[in-house]
Amino acid sequence: MLLKSDAINEKVVDSLLTRFLRYVKLDTQSDPESKTSPSTAKQFELAKMLKLELEDMGIVDVHLSNCCYLTGVLLSNSDKIKERVGIIAHLDTSPDAPGNGVSPQIIKSYNGKDIVLPKGDQQVIDVKECSELKACIGHTIITSDGTTLLGADNKAGVAIIMESIKFLLNNPQIKHGDIVVLFTPDEEVGRGTEKIDLNKFAVDFAYTVDGGLPPVINKETFSANSCEIRVKGRDIHPGAAKSIMINSLRAISEIISRLPIDVSPERTENREPFIHPHTLSATVVEANLKMILRDFEESGLLAQEKLIKNIIVDVEKKFPGVMIECEIKKSYRNMLSVVEKNNVVTDRLERAVRGAGLVPVWKPIRGGTDGAGLSAMGIPTPNIFTGGANFHSKREWASLDCMALSLKTVIGVLSVEDAN
Ligand SMILES: [Zn+2]
Repeated sequence: MLLKSDAINEKVVDSLLTRFLRYVKLDTQSDPESKTSPSTAKQFELAKMLKLELEDMGIVDVHLSNCCYLTGVLLSNSDKIKERVGIIAHLDTSPDAPGNGVSPQIIKSYNGKDIVLPKGDQQVIDVKECSELKACIGHTIITSDGTTLLGADNKAGVAIIMESIKFLLNNPQIKHGDIVVLFTPDEEVGRGTEKIDLNKFAVDFAYTVDGGLPPVINKETFSANSCEIRVKGRDIHPGAAKSIMINSLRAISEIISRLPIDVSPERTENREPFIHPHTLSATVVEANLKMILRDFEESGLLAQEKLIKNIIVDVEKKFPGVMIECEIKKSYRNMLSVVEKNNVVTDRLERAVRGAGLVPVWKPIRGGTDGAGLSAMGIPTPNIFTGGANFHSKREWASLDCMALSLKTVIGVLSVEDAN
């Protein structure tokens, strides 16, 4: 049975909005410093709310793990469909902007002008900085009040998945196989797939609903490493320091100054790689620098590692006696090779985007998703747009009209056209 594009009516979109507003009000920020799973207990609040809602809908095998992974299965309604499809969003919001006390404002029939956020330090969503807003004239736009992030990343995805399940239950003429829903904690701190139980999430392939604006879909993420450089020097009274003091602070500054400035996040886009020093602590005796390394190619990451190690060798020569340690850790890898192995997965997504009346555009993500982790475990997992933008900031916004297009796409990707 074909999914008619007008099947998602005003009532469904209203329900999607109500659901989204209910979820964003819960503070679910994750914490990069925490060693526990989940990194913050408050993520359980949303997980428990969703668990009850899934159970109320009649979803089976609903399970919330001790580490805050919520799974459930919408059983197949067709004997002919054998594949099990996973659909995923993350529960947590970014620690990069305040996440407590989200108070959304709703702008109906958006007029295409800059959006002034009413509270806080009078933030403005500038149309010049966010050209996508131009495509949203006439839409219903949702923002925060300017004091917090909105949390569309990823509660738009959570709301869209929940609404898609409700829609499929209300429209049994649309045929689908087993659908396994998964909500993960701690995606924003890079630990979203760390404690996934693949027995609970046994699927042939999956989709994350964690992208930006339609019609952009993703099958490629960065490959990512983290890098920590620790410098040890020697301290003494500055008045008697000649030939004795080794100043870690100067050595670490030298290292930073030798990193190529054009290979930085602020000067790169599209498929360009970057090295990003983001946290520094330094005294004379010791210094500690944290960086992230990003490239779409593995060979590029190796070249970055070599560059950093060569800089360290030079700096050690310039500061005799200094001790410099460099630790590089793998974060995640580009999922492209796994996703492209099976074009059924990407074809199905393209078909669903077209079914929502859009022309699909594949773009690489300058970041990672839970899909990168799942693809590394052998489950190809491309990413679907949510209808939100300006993530991780107080200027985050979402278009309800674009969220509805995402909902159409998700319903399309979960169902099968020719099962009858
Ligand atoms: Zn996200």
